[in-house]
Amino acid sequence: MKKCPECGGKLLTIVYGLPIDEIYEHAEEKGLYFAGCCVDLYKYHCKKCGTEFTKDFKMSRRKDDDIFASEKNDGEH
Ligand SMILES: [Zn+2]
Repeated sequence: MKKCPECGGKLLTIVYGLPIDEIYEHAEEKGLYFAGCCVDLYKYHCKKCGTEFTKDFKMSRRKDDDIFASEKNDGEH
């Protein structure tokens, strides 16, 4: 299970499209997070702080504001 680089919380894998009820009910314990039908480039959702990350963690965004915080690269990589 991956951890959030921001807060260390549990990261859920974002699933796009409409899930069947059975899967939806157990989504959290399976580590999945359903984002609806709109396919986005974000792949992970932090359960704790709500930040979402792309697959390679190069981009992230907060759930509460819609600002793309893609300038987190401070030269160390
Ligand atoms: Zn987090």
